[in-house]
Amino acid sequence: MKALQYRTVGAPPEVVTVPDPEPGPGQVLLKVTAAGVCHSDIGVMSRPAEDFPFPLPLTLGHEGVGTVAALGAGVRGVAEGDQVAVYGPWGCGTCPKCAEGKENYCLRAAELGIFPPGLGRPGAMAEYLLVDDPRHLVPLDGLDPVAAVPLTDAGLTPYHAVKRSLPKLVPGSTAVVIGAGGLGHVAIQLLRALTPARVVALDVSAEKLRLARAVGAHEAVVSDAKAAEAVRELTGGRGAEAVFDFVGAAPTVRTAGAVAAVEADVTLVGIGGAGLPVGFGLLPYEVSVNAPYWGTRSELIEVLELARAGAVSVHTETYSLDEAPLAYERLHAGQVNGRAVIVPG
Ligand code: NAD
Ligand code: ZN
Ligand code: ZN
Repeated sequence: MKALQYRTVGAPPEVVTVPDPEPGPGQVLLKVTAAGVCHSDIGVMSRPAEDFPFPLPLTLGHEGVGTVAALGAGVRGVAEGDQVAVYGPWGCGTCPKCAEGKENYCLRAAELGIFPPGLGRPGAMAEYLLVDDPRHLVPLDGLDPVAAVPLTDAGLTPYHAVKRSLPKLVPGSTAVVIGAGGLGHVAIQLLRALTPARVVALDVSAEKLRLARAVGAHEAVVSDAKAAEAVRELTGGRGAEAVFDFVGAAPTVRTAGAVAAVEADVTLVGIGGAGLPVGFGLLPYEVSVNAPYWGTRSELIEVLELARAGAVSVHTETYSLDEAPLAYERLHAGQVNGRAVIVPG
């Protein structure tokens, strides 16, 4: 089968032919119908050889949707032909966090060598994808594969982030979204669907700010050194009760801290590598700063329900598997509006 692989550190990913995978006991083979292109892959591909976290070659793609093509011995609960979305942050399934559905925070994944597809294991940018266990599949139940696939990360990750701040997003509150890209433009929709908060989006690109408004942001502000002042003004000096930073670089993290209200949640989702120091006098009283990873199995089920209800819809552009390297190039250059999706065809 064809697959998009990152093979050589520093080189672009390549379309290659690899053996068709076969499901072993307990595994499920999917014919991939769509795979999403996440900025985290660019983060992975910019790591130096001496610090590269996974074995190479690596088939990319940690957002995947497909049709069940074959079942390994002993698999129950799914059938050939079922259309499913893949829950990506695989865990052991039995530790206390996994028992709660929080496989993204599995206590034993590292020790057992368990990795998500596309982030250590062969990913979804291929004609077929092996899934280790049927518990990592959620029925699409009528959702379109291209529209649904970004929900497995670009939907699930902001959903998890927004959900933990819901108690603070009461009427009269403000939520700030920094970076209206793949994750950010879904975050805006989630905030509108789940809260009465006023939503302020920040981005460096005029096109992304237009998308932010189109998907429901009340205000769209250019993300520069004066952005924090602009947000303070928009909130009558009070600041935002929740700030979601989908960039995580030094300037955006600084802005995130500068727009936080007393008792705000500041959530750093972007992997730009910057941090926000917490200490008396450094931030308004009782601001909480956190850096979450992906989301839980039950949250993925909830995000797909929201999409079925029409409350979130991802802005997508599609590419064939042969065009996948171009999708990464365009994402790297800031030219993807919404989410790029690979359709292996
Ligand atoms: P994306 O490229 O689609 O979106 C990034 C957006 O940020 C773009 O719209 C870009 O114009 C904007 N931007 C860039 N610099 C900015 C600045 N200084 N101020 C404001 N906006 C700026 O990327 P994505 O796929 O949505 O991913 C967003 C981030 O989240 C990445 O860092 C990614 O690695 C990370 N991520 C984290 C998790 C997690 O679990 N923590 C999961 C998925 C993605
Ligand atoms: Zn991702
Ligand atoms: Zn576990």
